Amino acid sequence: MALSAASLSDERLAKIERVHLLISHAHWDHWEGLKDAEWLWRKGNGIALSIMGPKEALDAINKAFSPPSFVPLDILAIGTVASLSLVELSAGESTQLPGATVDALALHHYSGIAPHKRFLDTLGYRLSIEGGPTIAYICDHEPTAETSEMEKTAVASADLAIIDASYSDVSEHAFGHGSIESVAQLARSFPDVPVMAAHHGPLRSDEQIEEAAQRHGEGLERFSLAVEGASLDWDADAGRFVPTGTSPLAVASG
Ligand SMILES: [Zn+2]
Ligand SMILES: [Zn+2]
Repeated sequence: MALSAASLSDERLAKIERVHLLISHAHWDHWEGLKDAEWLWRKGNGIALSIMGPKEALDAINKAFSPPSFVPLDILAIGTVASLSLVELSAGESTQLPGATVDALALHHYSGIAPHKRFLDTLGYRLSIEGGPTIAYICDHEPTAETSEMEKTAVASADLAIIDASYSDVSEHAFGHGSIESVAQLARSFPDVPVMAAHHGPLRSDEQIEEAAQRHGEGLERFSLAVEGASLDWDADAGRFVPTGTSPLAVASG
């Protein structure tokens, strides 16, 4: 899960008691922002921090936060956070947090090409807030016939689904990633659920991404691209997410 380096005001920070950071897998792009979130390491912030994820990912983080590359997490925690814990999660596990439940989903993700293909222990998450929304976060993930049931179950029970769309088309699927087309197909099966195509491939231009979203998202009113700066508010009375500010919820409706 990417972590913003954006700063927080002292006033806002003072209201935060706990942070549960859900890490999906060991790849750099999902946790390197941990060192840049300066508010998390601000002196005396009083936050109880839990970093949760597969053992493989937690081991990778600990290794990277070691001399000579960086400062160990438990040293960073001295005088900054109130507490620091690393919590191992496994696929199929359900974990109770204060006011929320996290279900860990098994994702299909790997790097390299045979004979150098290497599978990663990768988790998606379904976060259910008591009296609030359920959010499905599925990245990084290459959908297959075998994973179809997991994807459908996750989206069917969600008020918002955020899913790997690294490529444009299903024919391009590789390296354990899906496409805007595969996410749109899923969105078509659940037209009432807001589904966001996310984790856009770094070599894709905005034009390529928007073209694929238009082509595959034709007629899907609640399908959209996850874009930087977009934000949604939970409307408790209506029981649905609504866009805040100028962020459109549906950018790909035809
Ligand atoms: Zn990855
Ligand atoms: Zn990734």
